[in-house]
Amino acid sequence: MERTFLMVKPDGVQRNVIGEIVSRFENKGFKLVGAKLMQIPTELAEQHYGEHKERPFFGELVDFITSGPVFAMVWEGENVISTARLMMGATNPKESAPGTIRGDYAVTVGKNIIHGSDSPESSAREIGLFFKEEELVSYEKAMNNWII
Ligand code: ADP
Ligand code: MG
Repeated sequence: MERTFLMVKPDGVQRNVIGEIVSRFENKGFKLVGAKLMQIPTELAEQHYGEHKERPFFGELVDFITSGPVFAMVWEGENVISTARLMMGATNPKESAPGTIRGDYAVTVGKNIIHGSDSPESSAREIGLFFKEEELVSYEKAMNNWII
């Protein structure tokens, strides 16, 4: 079963929308298999956003993601990587549709509330950066019989 790494960014934690965001993925029918509130060390932030190292906003991005606690999560489900990206909305909230997380909660690209892996490769990489294998829990949910 596919897994993705999702993270409520420091702006989402400060604005008390962890619960709202978790609810959306629960209501959709995905399964939470790992979660923790954490302060990201600078080195981890630089690794996580390594693909953007040469971009002009890289310093700003690392400063922001380390500016306060984040809520890191691993979610499981059929097509969860691409579906979570759809539920998050476009990177720039200026373009994210109402009804998406960024469309409903965010205004600027620098503070866009949530991170989500964009491919199976980045999901595997990001889960490995943020979670130890023993922090992820495998379990059955009877409810999933009615979803998939
Ligand atoms: P996404 O988070 O949707 O995968 P990217 O991987 O392209 O988007 O970018 C990572 C994060 O960097 C974005 O979520 C956003 O917070 C920030 N970012 C992207 N583009 C810009 C930009 N032009 N200026 C400032 N921050 C940006
Ligand atoms: Mg990205």
